Amino acid sequence: MHPEVAEALTSYEFGHREEELSALLETLRTNVLAVGGLDPERYTAVVLTGSGTAANESVLSSVVGDDDTVLVIENGEFGERLAKISRVYGHETITVTHAWGEAVDLDRVARAIETHAPDLVVMVHHETSTGMLNPVEQVGALVRTHGTRLFVDAVSSFSADALDVEAANITFLSTSSGKAIGSYPGLSLVIGTHDAFRALQGKAPRCHYLDLNRYYEFAVHKRQTPNTPAVPLMLALNRALELALEEGIEQRQSRLRALSEHVRGRLREIGLRPLLETEPLSNVLTSVLLPEGVSFEAFREALREHDFVIYGGKGPFEGRMFQVSTIGAVDDELLDRFFVAARRVLTTLRPRQSAVA
Ligand SMILES: *Cc1c(COP(=O)(O)O)cnc(C)c1O
Repeated sequence: MHPEVAEALTSYEFGHREEELSALLETLRTNVLAVGGLDPERYTAVVLTGSGTAANESVLSSVVGDDDTVLVIENGEFGERLAKISRVYGHETITVTHAWGEAVDLDRVARAIETHAPDLVVMVHHETSTGMLNPVEQVGALVRTHGTRLFVDAVSSFSADALDVEAANITFLSTSSGKAIGSYPGLSLVIGTHDAFRALQGKAPRCHYLDLNRYYEFAVHKRQTPNTPAVPLMLALNRALELALEEGIEQRQSRLRALSEHVRGRLREIGLRPLLETEPLSNVLTSVLLPEGVSFEAFREALREHDFVIYGGKGPFEGRMFQVSTIGAVDDELLDRFFVAARRVLTTLRPRQSAVA
C-alpha cells in the first residue's frame, strides 16, 4: 500500500452527514472521471459501499427491464459471474461462451447481437482469472451499430489499462477501490452517462440497497450517499485517485506495463511460462503456469515464508497456475527479491529431473 493512501485511511474526523462528506463525495466523483479521461458533461459516477460485485449487481439489477434481454460475453470466471448475477434477477440471459483464456470471437458476438437484439451487452475488460484484456472498443463498435447499451466490468483494470470509455460507447462501467486503483477493498464505483442514469428514474428497483437510481439521486440532489458510507475507505480511495492524477494516467499505465513486462521476462528466466503469451495483456497481473510436479499449496506456503503472497488459479487452472500482481508500492527492487525467493523455492520443490541449476 502506498503510505499516503494508508495515512488517508485513518484521517477520518468528521460526521458522515456533514458538509465534509459532501465535499469528499464530490471530489471523489470528479477525480474518478478525471482518471477515466471522461467528459463530466456526458458521464458521471456514484460510489457504493461494497466490493466490486456490489457495483456489478447494482447495474444488473437496476438497468434491465422485465422484457429486456441481456447478452453476456464469457471467457473466464468474471464473465461467468456476470451471467450468474443477471440470471439471479430473472433476466433473459444469453451468453457467448469461450474457454477460459480464449480470445473473444467478435464474429460470434456480432451474430449473437443480430440474432437476439439484446438491450444490454455485458463484458469484462480485464478478465482477472487469466490476465487477458478483452476487445471492449470492438464490441463497442458492434453495440453502436445495433443501438444497444454496453456495460463493462472494469473492476481490475480501470486506471491501469488504457480504455477509451467514450469511443467504446460504454453506457455503464464498474470498478472497485481495491484492485487496479490501488486502494483498500470495500468500495465500488459505477460510471455511466447522465442520460442512462436519468433513464432509471421511476423504474421499480429489484434491490433496495443496490438501487442505482438511489445512489444517483442522492449524489446529484443531496451530495450524499443513501446509506452510511465507508468514509475511511472513501478518504483512502480519493488519495489513490489523486496520486494517479499527480503521476499522470498515461505515465502510470506505462510504469505498470513496464513492471508487468519485467515480471514476464523474469519468469521466463527462472524457467516458468506465463499462461498467456499474446497481447493485449493486463498491466497489473500475470498468470503463470506451475511447472509439472510442483504443488500450488506448497509453493504458496513456501513463498509466504519469504513474505510474498501469490494467488491461485480458478476453474480449469486450479492447481496448475498462480498469479502475480504488481499494483501498489511495488518496484524493481521488490520484484528482484520476489524472483530470488521464487527461484529458491522452486529449486526445492521441483521434482529432480526438471530442476534448474
Ligand atoms: C475481483 C473482480 C470482481 C469481483 O469483485 P469483488 O471486489 O471481489 O466483489 C468482479 N469482476 C472482476 C473483473 C474482478 O476482477
